[in-house]
Amino acid sequence: MKVLVINCGSSSLKYQVLNMDDESLLCKGLVEKIGIEGSMLTHTKIGADKFVVEAPMKNHTDAIQYVLDALVDKDHGVLGSMSELGAVGHRVLHGGDKFTASCVVDEACKQAIRDCFPLGPLHNPANLMGIEACEKLMPNTPQVAVFDTAFHQTMPAESFMYALPYEYYEKYAVRKYGFHGTSHRYIAQTAAKMLGKDPKELKIISCHLGNGASLAAIKNGECYDTSMGLTPLEGLIMGTRCGDIDPAAIPFIAEREGMTLKEIDTMMNKKSGMLGVSGVSSDFRDVENAANEGNERAALAQKMFVHRVKHYIGAYIAEMNGCDAIVFTAGLGENGKTMRKWICEDMDYLGIKLCDKCNDVRGKEAFLNTEDSKVKILLIPTNEELMIARDTVELTAK
Ligand code: AMP
Repeated sequence: MKVLVINCGSSSLKYQVLNMDDESLLCKGLVEKIGIEGSMLTHTKIGADKFVVEAPMKNHTDAIQYVLDALVDKDHGVLGSMSELGAVGHRVLHGGDKFTASCVVDEACKQAIRDCFPLGPLHNPANLMGIEACEKLMPNTPQVAVFDTAFHQTMPAESFMYALPYEYYEKYAVRKYGFHGTSHRYIAQTAAKMLGKDPKELKIISCHLGNGASLAAIKNGECYDTSMGLTPLEGLIMGTRCGDIDPAAIPFIAEREGMTLKEIDTMMNKKSGMLGVSGVSSDFRDVENAANEGNERAALAQKMFVHRVKHYIGAYIAEMNGCDAIVFTAGLGENGKTMRKWICEDMDYLGIKLCDKCNDVRGKEAFLNTEDSKVKILLIPTNEELMIARDTVELTAK
């Protein structure tokens, strides 16, 4: 079965088509500037050159129509006709506490995505627009929604509750949800395969370290705790997000700077993190280059990032009473060998020993631990699209 995977943003859309008979990637692409001037589709058939279409696309239906045209294009396409497409899988950011797994799109599913608009105000409306555009253009093709939050729904209440007055949980569902769930689930399954064990026998710490970053404590194949919260702001220091801070810093700064809550929110999400501390960039490579050239704030941002990751690893080992494997994934986790080295440094008390020679690797599945390390250290390139496509096949084949 061939599956189209769509990740719809408010003005952009990423897609892939996978042949699920052998899980191979057939093509991928990106539509940018939907609904604004300069709309553009960049389509790449695997093994061929990029194909660019510049045309006005006033909404997501227009954009998806251009994607479908590219998929059946006689030179750049990967489908003989649209009937070859078995199903569409959509990445949806927020499923609140309604979705513990992926689901086939129907009216109830769409309403539940709508109900979660307050929790994912930027992403959920765009995700739903993508779903509705596909319904319009492919009314007979089944669709599946895969939620970033679903994997974390197994967290026990002591992991997900905030110690605020209980009424805010009851009235507004204010609690930890966690994100990157599809990636953490892929990591848990792939790590178990690499270790030759059943996921139910394992305690894993999955470190998704990219521009957005989160850790998940995965016990017996289920999420036990994760570092992102009600929103993706909580937890690790990220490209432009501050991660954990004393919440009292918010009124303290707001009073002195005369900032509104909205301005504070923007500052914490867009101007903080590696960018805010280093003053150089949100990109870990730029920060690394600046630190190597003697920029002290860039070096400080790196140290703070490492410190926070170590903090969570320690916490999760304590919470799970052990750890069989730590896994690194996403842009920095897959490529940043210096960061991996620093994170694993001086952790031998916890049985974590990185092998420097094994760590000299990028972007492929590998074991990074020494022979005598109690905890295995793994590198696994994440593949959220494949996970979405697998769920899509499983649910639509039923
Ligand atoms: P992602 O959000 O998963 O695409 O990850 C993006 C982040 O990964 C960026 O901050 C990049 O700087 C970082 N990254 C990618 N390649 C490398 C590398 N070779 N060394 C260090 N960081 C990298």
